[in-house]
Amino acid sequence: MKNDGIMTLIKSRILDVYSENLLTTGTTIKWFNDLKNILSEFFDVEKVHYFIFDIDTFKPLRKNHSYSKKMHLIKWLEVEAFFYEKDFTETPFWDMENDLNKVVKILLRDYDNQPIGLLVMDSTVRWKEFAETENIKEFVSTITKLVKTIRQSIVLIQQENQYRNLFSVTKAFNSTLDSGEILNGTLYAITNAFPQLEPTLILSNDQDRKTSVPYKLFDYTSERPATVDAYVSGEITTELVQELGVRLINVPIKGKQGIYGILQLTTTEDYIFSTRQKEFATSLSETTGNALENAKLYIQSHRLVSDLQLINETSHKLNTNISLEEMLVFLRNQLIKSFHPEQICFVFIEEEEYKISTSSNDYFHTNEGQFYIQHVANHFNKVKDSLFIADFNRITKLKSGYRSLIAVPLKEQNTITGFSIVLHKEPYFFSFDAFKLMQSLIQHSSLAISNSALRNKLQEMVNRDHLTNLFARKYLDKYVENSMKIDDRGVFVLIDIDDFKQVNDTFGHQVGDEILKQIASIIQKKVGEKGIGVRWGGEELALYYAQMTLEEGIEMCKQLLGSISSETNPSVTVSIGVSSWQQQDNINFHHLFQQTDIALYEAKNKGKNQLSIMEVSHHL
Ligand code: GH3
Ligand code: MG
Ligand code: MG
Repeated sequence: MKNDGIMTLIKSRILDVYSENLLTTGTTIKWFNDLKNILSEFFDVEKVHYFIFDIDTFKPLRKNHSYSKKMHLIKWLEVEAFFYEKDFTETPFWDMENDLNKVVKILLRDYDNQPIGLLVMDSTVRWKEFAETENIKEFVSTITKLVKTIRQSIVLIQQENQYRNLFSVTKAFNSTLDSGEILNGTLYAITNAFPQLEPTLILSNDQDRKTSVPYKLFDYTSERPATVDAYVSGEITTELVQELGVRLINVPIKGKQGIYGILQLTTTEDYIFSTRQKEFATSLSETTGNALENAKLYIQSHRLVSDLQLINETSHKLNTNISLEEMLVFLRNQLIKSFHPEQICFVFIEEEEYKISTSSNDYFHTNEGQFYIQHVANHFNKVKDSLFIADFNRITKLKSGYRSLIAVPLKEQNTITGFSIVLHKEPYFFSFDAFKLMQSLIQHSSLAISNSALRNKLQEMVNRDHLTNLFARKYLDKYVENSMKIDDRGVFVLIDIDDFKQVNDTFGHQVGDEILKQIASIIQKKVGEKGIGVRWGGEELALYYAQMTLEEGIEMCKQLLGSISSETNPSVTVSIGVSSWQQQDNINFHHLFQQTDIALYEAKNKGKNQLSIMEVSHHL
């Protein structure tokens, strides 16, 4: 009878707890403390613990309690049998020491018998007395009702908070197309919702890199397997990292078209990530993924328009009649404008030699620069496709200065005739989009470039004399006039073969032709790349050398006199007139030629096989 009275009192106290907690605090701790007070008051119970049921496991409401660590998580499967047709048990069901054997376990169940929670408490004399009576059933059902109602109200309140949080994030995301703002918003929302978790953003490489938000670059090769797994599967993964004493939760940032990275939450080893928290993190990262995707699409559509403009502008320009050099300078500027590389080169393959065009950076003439050219050349020897290297240091032991590289071949029909390389020191500097764009830019220009190179070749054929392969006189005029504009000085030389008529008469015209060719090649060797040799008339040859002083010119002519007489077969001699100009002389090519012609005339008059010098005269 005494216990009936107690039950009524308990029920009235529980009603108080119920009404006080409903829709107010939203925390389980509060009502649990109230319940503890009741248990202590009526049954002298001191130690009480509550475990919340989640999916298949009881998880402690409060961590770090005094019981053994093994009590942290209790699997329903392992304890189900103890509650067969009863709601409480004193049977020890985990490996406990000493007095814990007397611990009371009360199971709280839902209508469908599904567990809700587990109360664990000391067994006392007063409790034992009470538990003997019929009232025990009513006690358990009252507590169950309390827990169920409170739980529902907590879920409602938490859900409301989470949805409010999500809603404000979504609203904010919809008003921005800035990926930095979106990522910042995500970090803020997650910190707000779970202050105990430390968020880290791990983003894939195709993100806008201008963002100010701190993030790690996702790297397949160095990421933890669970992180890679989340990235690949699009599902949340968790991992206990024993060596660091932390638990990692990897939430994929998923949009409709792909996964953009991982939101990694770091927490203590014993932290329990509930189903509801998981749902929230999933919704949040999906919202983030969609917002990032929108921002990306927006940027992409803008980029697409500007890419098309770039290609259009380039094709236009290349279709106008510009020289190869002008064309390459233009392309170089387009590449700089679009990709901001630190080094650029255009290399042409001519007779198995790699010729670096003058529109390339000087860097490519250094040993280091040659290394990149060689690497790319080796690549194109094997494959005809463009080369995209995000981090050069990963593929070579040699630590190179430039870690990002794109190389695109110049093709004529199916033959690679050259290539263009862009470099940047920073790894992952060029995006995949940039690679695609450069490819299409160079491909669009390839035909124009090879046409222009062909035109150059044809032009050169027209410019050259066909017997001696020296330049034709017409070309000399242009060449010297240009040099007089851009250089400070130059030497002009006229050469006439001595008694050539006689040579022809003696050996025949054909031998005469051979001698002309021999002399032409001696002259060509002398001028090299820095000057030009010209067939001036029938057996009159000329030579122009820019940036040479008269003294150097005289020396050169002396050598020519010597080598022509000794290297021709049958041997002939020549007469040479030499003259020079300097900027301050202010004379034109016509004057220069006249002076030199006088010098040659003098050399003939003085007895041939010699050179005559004409100093600059201003009377002309
Ligand atoms: P000089 O020492 O005064 O120069 O005597 P020369 O016999 O060389 O006289 P000139 O320069 O007036 O004669 C030019 C001759 O060179 C005429 C022609 O037989 C010869 N000649 C000109 N063009 C060619 C050519 O293409 N091939 C050959 N084999 N001979 C040529
Ligand atoms: Mg002559
Ligand atoms: Mg002659």
